[in-house]
Amino acid sequence: MRQIRLHDTRRGEVVDFEPRDPGRASIYACGPTVYSRIHIGNARPFVVYSLLKRFLEAEGLETTLVMNVTDVNDKIYDAARAADPPVASDELAREMTAAYVADTDALGLGRPDHEPLAGETIDGIIALIGTLIEAGSAYAVDGDVYFSVRSDSAYGELSHRSVDAMDQGEGVEGASRKRDPLDFALWKATKEGEDTAWDAPWGRGRPGWHIECSAMAEGLLGVGFDIHGGGNDLVFPHHENEAAQTRMARGSELARIWMHNGMLQLAGEKMAKSTGNIEPLAAVVERWGPEAVILFFVSGHYRQPLLFGDTELEAARTSARRIREQAARTVAGPSPEELSGHREAFFDSLADDFNTPKALAALHAWLRGASGIDSPGNEDLVAMLTCLGLESLLEPAEVPEADESALALLREREEARAAGDFERADALRDELAALGWEVRDGAGGAELVRP
Ligand SMILES: [Zn+2]
Repeated sequence: MRQIRLHDTRRGEVVDFEPRDPGRASIYACGPTVYSRIHIGNARPFVVYSLLKRFLEAEGLETTLVMNVTDVNDKIYDAARAADPPVASDELAREMTAAYVADTDALGLGRPDHEPLAGETIDGIIALIGTLIEAGSAYAVDGDVYFSVRSDSAYGELSHRSVDAMDQGEGVEGASRKRDPLDFALWKATKEGEDTAWDAPWGRGRPGWHIECSAMAEGLLGVGFDIHGGGNDLVFPHHENEAAQTRMARGSELARIWMHNGMLQLAGEKMAKSTGNIEPLAAVVERWGPEAVILFFVSGHYRQPLLFGDTELEAARTSARRIREQAARTVAGPSPEELSGHREAFFDSLADDFNTPKALAALHAWLRGASGIDSPGNEDLVAMLTCLGLESLLEPAEVPEADESALALLREREEARAAGDFERADALRDELAALGWEVRDGAGGAELVRP
């Protein structure tokens, strides 16, 4: 087995991956807060950690992936109140959780092993807060509970920040009740207009975001599990706080490696739901197909920012088509000797801090090599494509029949060309492209194909 290496944010370098339990791997990744449909940027951690699990399993490790759903959060209360007409916050969370599952199912990567809901982990959360109060790392004030940041001497180690330069981002909320402005909320007393709440020893309320993840992760994986993942926008305060809570309650670290993916960039800015112009995942998958979306994500190294746009998706779709065409020409059996080096390079690249762009280059090198020989064999191809969640490219494309309206546009284009109106013909070709059809002119006339 290869020595797998991954970048650990806490140590600030690529380190050897040494599983807590020999032969097994455990991953917890922060999932979405379900207040609206997820956008393409939210899909990056889902893809990265789903594929990481596939790679670890290909390397012989029995892998458990937990990706939570944050269904109790300020943003959900706000969105439920702002809806027209207003809806109950738990109803909105249920609806958006179902939409998240459907939207990510469309990628064809399967589901994580566990997808815990914060709202179904309240007992574990209350018990963890109780332990922190007993340990002297948390205190209750007027129905709220706060974590005492200065009780943790290791606080700031994960995000490499000095304690004095920190802002929890909680604004004025609870400012008068905090003993120290650095402290953050573990439990928030119910406020006017919040319709979902639970009873706790400190009063009726609901948990803070950070304690939800500490409790869900520990509940399913125990403390000291292998990899904690998420977007790099979560390093501070979310992950710093998760780490601190577990360290002070349990006396040991929550995770061995903290792994963070970069953000998607749109016209040079970070993709967050608060900025406009963000495409929902469902629309992107519908337009380009799941294989192109996955190839788009793996075309960049997970730690780097990734530019999102039509050009990038177009290139990914072309790549998907080439792989599918080549796969159709391969036959079952072992690979000839000269190709096995590319397969090794593919898996070696993934073992080296999950370098998917380098692995992709090895896959393409394999395909180029295979095109020049009689019986290239597909065992390598199956292994590589399955690892990247692209096994559907082993099947011929399902080509939908062009519908009547598309065929009418094609006929109109033929007439425009016959009449020498090429400007009109080009406009009609663009119109067909927007519907997902490419016009191919052949000896027997023009036909419509899916690009
Ligand atoms: Zn989290």
